[in-house]
Amino acid sequence: MEKKTFVTKDQLDAITAQYPTPFHLYDERGIRENARALKAAFAWNVGYKEFFAVKATPTPAILNILREEGCGTDCSSLTELMLSDRCGFTGPEMMFSSNNTPPEEFELAAKLGATINLDDFTHIDFLRDTVGYIPETISCRFNPGGTFTLGESEEGFQVMDNPGEAKYGFTRAQMTDGFRKLKEMGAKHFGIHAFLASNTISNEYYPALARILFQTAVELKEETGCHIAFINLSGGIGIPYRPEQQKNDIAVIGEGVRKAYEEILVPAGMGDVAICTELGRFMLGPYGCLVTKAIHEKHTYKEYVGVDACAANLMRPAMYGAYHHITVMGKEDAPCDHMYDVTGSLCENNDKFAVDRMLPKIDKGDTLVIHDTGAHGFAMGYQYNGKLRSAELLLREDGSVKLIRRAETPEDYFATMLFD
Ligand SMILES: *Cc1c(COP(=O)(O)O)cnc(C)c1O
Repeated sequence: MEKKTFVTKDQLDAITAQYPTPFHLYDERGIRENARALKAAFAWNVGYKEFFAVKATPTPAILNILREEGCGTDCSSLTELMLSDRCGFTGPEMMFSSNNTPPEEFELAAKLGATINLDDFTHIDFLRDTVGYIPETISCRFNPGGTFTLGESEEGFQVMDNPGEAKYGFTRAQMTDGFRKLKEMGAKHFGIHAFLASNTISNEYYPALARILFQTAVELKEETGCHIAFINLSGGIGIPYRPEQQKNDIAVIGEGVRKAYEEILVPAGMGDVAICTELGRFMLGPYGCLVTKAIHEKHTYKEYVGVDACAANLMRPAMYGAYHHITVMGKEDAPCDHMYDVTGSLCENNDKFAVDRMLPKIDKGDTLVIHDTGAHGFAMGYQYNGKLRSAELLLREDGSVKLIRRAETPEDYFATMLFD
């Protein structure tokens, strides 16, 4: 089964004639259409807003597109807050969801007016001592503990995670105590957040998470009398990395959340609660790819194709054994009758984009598209082995291409080194 690339061979030949590989390429049309579909799926909720998880793709041109589509940002660090600020996001268009938070990050978040999402009970006093006050609007991250499972498929559970082992969030009892304490310290409007599972390809995950959070919100309101202003369903909606996987249907997901909202929140007199999402992968993953060229072939105990990208450009296969589909441009319809390991050049044997992958015969000079690198791709890049981060390019809706981040040069590599 073949996954389609969002760029044609002719377009890519023209691009690689101008920009040397490797680079990440993003699809503006796909990003905008997907962002609009998400917005439409939650249009039933008056206060709905997506806060894009900046860590997935911290690139100004991408953040600007999402801002034009009505998104805010979700920041997890000092520099992500600075980046959002520089891209023109203001005040409550920014969510700050961090953990083990250094004081200067709370200081900047408060100064910019970002909505602060506390990760721990002890951060209540820490925030007050750091910035001098508790903001009127504040959010707390809930960790229900135990294990979270959803549905059963032939390969086992569709979604399974282990919140009890996760370092994030307040316990259920701490949520009640935390809301009471924050209220006494001056908070007026409260948010509830939870992040349970990553990369779920199930339309049931978000509605199931919503039910847990909505029920918790009703209880917290009864216990503490606090005004629950918003519920943040966080990230975790996945994408089909493998060609045989089914895409999530965001309209079905939005409808599932609406049903839970009307069954749980509306009867409790909480029909004014705004829904927030903090999606990263779903917003960008499929709309980026890593473009690389085959530069070597090696025949030893296995058949290897060496490409000019490496794990420093895309860490997920090396780090998690993650599957990323590969298309050999111009050979989309050729039989996949050769088995290859597709490797980078790091001195690490896990630097392989694919292991034992059936592909068409690859020749030196072929252009390979590694799919679904738009989120947690470039962003996880690093400089091990003295490798440099690649450029990022944007394929615009009119078919033209724009450089949105230049490739690093050796000067960038040496910039922080002190030679005397
Ligand atoms: C990483 C992260 C996200 C985004 O997760 P995706 O799986 O990319 O949707 C959202 N919220 C928080 C707090 C995160 O840490």
